[in-house]
Amino acid sequence: MYDIEYLHQATSVDDAVAALAADPLAQVIAGGTDVLVKLRDGKGAPAHLVSIHGLAGELSGVTLLDDGCVRIGANTVFHSVTTSPVIQERIPVLGEACDTPGGPQLRIAGTIGGNLCNGVTSADSASTCMALGVLLDLVGPEGRRTVPIDEWYAGPGRTVRRRDELLVAIRVPRSHYEGFAGEYIKYGKRNALEIATMGCCCLVRLAEDHDTLADVRLAFGVAGPVPMRSHAAEDGVRGLSVAQAAERVGELALEDTRPRDSWRASKAFRQQLIKEMSRRALMSAARKGGATV
Ligand SMILES: Cc1cc2nc3c(=O)[nH]c(=O)nc-3n(C[C@H](O)[C@H](O)[C@H](O)COP(=O)(O)OP(=O)(O)OC[C@H]3O[C@@H](n4cnc5c(N)ncnc54)[C@H](O)[C@@H]3O)c2cc1C
Repeated sequence: MYDIEYLHQATSVDDAVAALAADPLAQVIAGGTDVLVKLRDGKGAPAHLVSIHGLAGELSGVTLLDDGCVRIGANTVFHSVTTSPVIQERIPVLGEACDTPGGPQLRIAGTIGGNLCNGVTSADSASTCMALGVLLDLVGPEGRRTVPIDEWYAGPGRTVRRRDELLVAIRVPRSHYEGFAGEYIKYGKRNALEIATMGCCCLVRLAEDHDTLADVRLAFGVAGPVPMRSHAAEDGVRGLSVAQAAERVGELALEDTRPRDSWRASKAFRQQLIKEMSRRALMSAARKGGATV
């Protein structure tokens, strides 16, 4: 049973923001794959919804800006991120991460914006967005602002987005992806229709010798209450050879991750996943970047 008291179909970003500002109970619905599941369970009911479903313009699609920045409208569904020629050419790891949630039906309904706005640590696009250091463009009654993703998460299921703000786009500046190769690994008990027990994204930029790690970014989902980078691992392996880094990265990643017990997996098992997935993601990213290890 979906207890919806009020639904406003927004006609533009400004219209959506005005509708959110006018009603203190109103919440955004995009693809609805989180919102409607919660509503069916009675959470947040009776609902006042401002729908941005299908809103095009600045909310939709992937574009390459003149300065090389990749811009993804918040309403872009997972499948469209994965199949975007810009993503495939410039940031294939983000397309691969967006190919892991749910099953095919979910990936043509769920949006990348919804995946970041739900604030959930297991969100499959989040650790890759974290590793990429994406910028989040918001519009609210007071105007526009940009939040770097490392300042985005406020706690489990919470972000710094104000209730009457709309996420309009996710931007990846050129220097954040150019020269990097990446790997996202999702661990779950099965391959499809599974929420991640652990997600790990590693980006590496190799030096000219195709072996030394000129730069590394390592981020996790479900390694703590919110998606997080492991700066200890990044700082500890930068400048090492791929083989040396693969030996050390897992232990280092344990220093600043905080997994916990849940019904899906124990803390000890998640710690094992952090170690193993860091190593595998780093090796795979390095191979994609041209290493021969
Ligand atoms: C069967 C099933 C399987 C799933 N499997 C996975 C999985 O494997 N991995 C995974 O990561 N997720 C999974 N999900 C969760 C969900 O599909 C994703 O989180 C999806 O990205 C949500 O996007 P949406 O557009 O449907 O968001 P909605 O449900 O519309 O919204 C989600 C939240 O974000 C807010 N919101 C949405 N868009 C905006 C915006 N532009 N600005 C401000 N706020 C906004 C809403 O108010 C709400 O709080 C699954 C869901 C289902 C039903």
